Amino acid sequence: MQQKKIIHARKRIALIAHDHKKAELIEWATYNRAVLSRHELYGTGTTGQLVEQALDIPVRKLLSGPLGGDQQIGALVATGGLDLIIFFWDPMEALPHDPDIKALLRLGVVWNIPMASNRASADFLVTSPLMNQEYETILPDYSQYTKRKI
Ligand code: PGA
Repeated sequence: MQQKKIIHARKRIALIAHDHKKAELIEWATYNRAVLSRHELYGTGTTGQLVEQALDIPVRKLLSGPLGGDQQIGALVATGGLDLIIFFWDPMEALPHDPDIKALLRLGVVWNIPMASNRASADFLVTSPLMNQEYETILPDYSQYTKRKI
């Protein structure tokens, strides 16, 4: 059976950027400070710290990505603790925690989380009227999976 999910007006937003993308994310976040300040911000360790400093807005900082931060964000997604992900990942460099990155991107799709992987998508996302209102979404039907008999 399909499950409804409510995303509240005040959203829990995860911000993550790989090292070569951090400057771009900070610039984007600074430009969008007014919008972001209306929501609750989370971030992987280094990104979170940089965003907090640049915006002077509290960010819940998890571990640094390669040390488990992406997995922590993934766990929040899977347990309903996050509403939106802005993840500027680096398409030009192989990273040691590639499996964690893939796992996070996969969970975002599993749980129907709005996700932006680049600046243009992030712009479209944060300027959506849905950013400031409650939104009801439907999760895919996973009952065939959860009730399967092996
Ligand atoms: P960082 O982690 O914000 O701690 O640099 C980001 C990542 O590499 O996933």
